[in-house]
Amino acid sequence: MSDGGPRTGQNSAEALLEANELLRAIVDSSPSAIIGLDTNRRVTTWNNAATRLYGYEPAEVTGMAFPDAPQDMAVFTALFDQVLNGRIIRDIQIERIRKDGTKARIRYSAAPLHDSKGTVCGVITLTEDIGQQLDTLDVLKQQETRLRTVLETVSDAIIVIDQRGRIQSFSSAAERQFSYSAEEVIGKNVSILMPSPYREEHDYYIDRYQKTHEKRIIGIGREVVGQRKDGSIFPMYLSVGEGKLGGESIYVGIIHDITAQQTTERQLREMQDELLQVSRMSGMGQMASSLAHELNQPLTGASTLLQAARRMLEVGDPAAIGRAREAVEKAAQQLLRAGEIIRRLREFASRGDTEKVEVPVDTMINEAIALARISNKFGSTKVEVNLADTPAVLADKVQVQQVILNLLRNGLEAMDGVAKPILTVSTRLVNDMVEVSISDVGPGISPEVKERLFQPFVTTKQHGMGVGLAICRTIIEAHGGRLVADDNPAGGTIFRFTLARAFDEADDGNK
Ligand code: ADP
Repeated sequence: MSDGGPRTGQNSAEALLEANELLRAIVDSSPSAIIGLDTNRRVTTWNNAATRLYGYEPAEVTGMAFPDAPQDMAVFTALFDQVLNGRIIRDIQIERIRKDGTKARIRYSAAPLHDSKGTVCGVITLTEDIGQQLDTLDVLKQQETRLRTVLETVSDAIIVIDQRGRIQSFSSAAERQFSYSAEEVIGKNVSILMPSPYREEHDYYIDRYQKTHEKRIIGIGREVVGQRKDGSIFPMYLSVGEGKLGGESIYVGIIHDITAQQTTERQLREMQDELLQVSRMSGMGQMASSLAHELNQPLTGASTLLQAARRMLEVGDPAAIGRAREAVEKAAQQLLRAGEIIRRLREFASRGDTEKVEVPVDTMINEAIALARISNKFGSTKVEVNLADTPAVLADKVQVQQVILNLLRNGLEAMDGVAKPILTVSTRLVNDMVEVSISDVGPGISPEVKERLFQPFVTTKQHGMGVGLAICRTIIEAHGGRLVADDNPAGGTIFRFTLARAFDEADDGNK
């Protein structure tokens, strides 16, 4: 054969035999099921893989029609006829029944077999079992769906980027937060979601991390800023995780929009500032007498010094005039001191008069409770809020919130050491007044302060000022209401105050 010369008869018969052997070996060792059929669909060839796939031994099926389930018969007859007519079928996905009755999911190809005259004498089919592949695909699809559902439902935005910073996936929340659709950003550099100068620097950050592995944000997380499609910027909390995919790094960013949180924090800070202002204003009453005292000193001093100077001037000799000048200078200093005190007083009261407006009771109370939570340790204290559907009140909100805050703080302090501390805040309408009550389950008001509870400087606390309740009563009375304290039947104390309800215009005619 190697010399390429003409073959003898003996040689070509041998060659044919060899080729036949080779073919049989291929057929037997093929991982795909190879089945030959004659024109009547009777099995002529059945290899090992066919036995593995369907469970029939060659002897059971050779010479028999392929044992398809009756309901599948039509499908296979149609396919078979097409192949007999010369068509080749490639890679169709179908199901067939195994000997044990189970279904085999297969990829199926078939081609016509021709005899030496070129007429179709049968069909050869090639079948692969793809059940496992399909199962794996199913599992992957399920996993993907699960992951997608998670990504879709979490309120934080999730963005995955590759190690070159290109966006690989962009969750629904990310779409909402940045106002970009996933389609618009996938494949783009994640820096488009950042304002300058981070936008220009981000590639460098990734590069530096990949070189140094020095973690500045990965696994740490911090507050940064993002930029929406319309160019607006928002504060966000970014946590970044790192993963590996096909040998390359991917980075997963979880983004929590903290705009609302920051706004609330700012509002609370502003309210606290206002509260501070109010307590200064309310402290004015108490301040007045000590101020009178402070002013009295320099003014009396100045007056004495000036009288002395006048007497010295009456004497008229040069030494007396010198002493008179000194006295006048000292008097001037005393007057400057008085002026300084008055200036400080003016600064102290610089916020001017407060104004009463229509205030919804529930917002006022809920905000005050939120404020109280910030500035006090509530620990295990339960706060029960029972707000009736009361009309709005006419009030200076900040001042009344200071009252509520004070009463809540007193209640908390009174319940220090109580096993089950509960603060209850409730409202009700009594005639045309809205009554707010704040009760605790502490030890009640001690007898030594009971009579003078609302007087300034009455306290039983080591670091107490004893002005809280005095200020509260002043504020409530300035609102035309009353503040009283009662024993709580359940143990503890109930403070109640009233405020005049606001009448909206529709009500005005009746009142
Ligand atoms: P301070 O809290 O600085 O003492 P307050 O005027 O607010 O000033 O309170 C005066 C005193 O009234 C407190 O020291 C305390 O003895 C008493 N008191 C106030 N609230 C309560 C309460 N809820 N339960 C028991 N005692 C209270």
